[in-house]
Amino acid sequence: MAPKPIRILSVLGTRPEVIKMAPIITALAADHRRFESRVCVTGQHRALVEPLFALFGIRPDHDLAVMRPGQTPTDVLSAALPGLQSVLRHERPDWVLAEGDTTTVMATAIAAFHERVPFGHVEAGLRSRDFARPFPEEFNRRVADLVAGWWFAPTDGARTNLLREGADPARVVVTGNTVVDAVLDVSARPAALSPALEALGTRRPRLVLVTMHRRESFGGPLEQICLALADLADAYRDVVQFVYPVHPNPAVRGPVHAILGDRENVALVEPLEYGPFVQLLRRSALVITDSGGVLEEAPTLGVPAVVLREVTERPEAFLSGAAVLAGTAREGVVQAVRRLLDDEPVRRAMMGKPNPYGDGKAAARIVAALAGDPVEPFGG
Ligand code: UDP
Repeated sequence: MAPKPIRILSVLGTRPEVIKMAPIITALAADHRRFESRVCVTGQHRALVEPLFALFGIRPDHDLAVMRPGQTPTDVLSAALPGLQSVLRHERPDWVLAEGDTTTVMATAIAAFHERVPFGHVEAGLRSRDFARPFPEEFNRRVADLVAGWWFAPTDGARTNLLREGADPARVVVTGNTVVDAVLDVSARPAALSPALEALGTRRPRLVLVTMHRRESFGGPLEQICLALADLADAYRDVVQFVYPVHPNPAVRGPVHAILGDRENVALVEPLEYGPFVQLLRRSALVITDSGGVLEEAPTLGVPAVVLREVTERPEAFLSGAAVLAGTAREGVVQAVRRLLDDEPVRRAMMGKPNPYGDGKAAARIVAALAGDPVEPFGG
């Protein structure tokens, strides 16, 4: 008699979680003899994630619909917990998986702990060691790692962090980051840009993509960064086209439009779907970002990244030289970007660095570990 399939429940909340869990959900579905895969969305984000389900062919089995206008992390947590409890009681999976450091992930870890369902943490072991930065993510990922039964560490550095905190070495696997699997998959697909984006890509000799929305930057740092972008837009008015898909959060939209709205070579656009975003990233001379996911995608596509953070839980690209940490002060950001735009050998040297975040086989390693197969670790 064939053994019973292993029942896996994947929980998703925000855009990066869908992107980073998609390769695992696809791999579980492909291995349907050994796995029964279920998907629950909390609905922490809505508009940003719906197109991703279509792109990756994901059909959620449960939707907790927690999103409310102006929601705080406490709102999301308190709305998600009862829903997760009933889904866990209904599904009784062998493992529940969640990726990263959002409130959805923390809620999933807590609900799984209470229901005594084993929890596997994807992208385990990242640490900035500063609860204020990134806020609230550093706290969320620590809670998730406290109760995990499988730690899927993207890099060896993440594994070291986990072992230092007492994780069972037999349950820590260095997998690479699944975002590398996702970006390689999507960048290989034929994707047409809309005529408007296509025109932006050719309007000036160089394209610079910008993303910025971190909660700990709201207020002063966000304004400083916008002023830096304004300085840069003025300095490179005829030669660089900046494209900035602006996150819907009003705390971001307000200052961004007030400071950058009238710059002719800064296109403030709606958040892009993943396919077009990846195509634009590929074509960019560099990307200016405070996003962890974009920092991991950039070296995958050979694009230098200037990172708008004071501290980082993803040091690998800075150590390898594929990215630079620019902070959030106006002058520092201007200098970091100018150096790359003005010194082509420096920019080219960054483009050639090996990708420290993965090799496109992270999902396969995670699925193998869940099945009890031997796993050759990433970078091993
Ligand atoms: N992204 C996207 N469209 C955009 C901006 C970003 O699809 O307009 C993708 C990006 O490629 C990355 C992810 O969204 O994979 C990052 O999401 P976010 O910045 O929300 O999260 P973080 O990485 O900071 O956790």
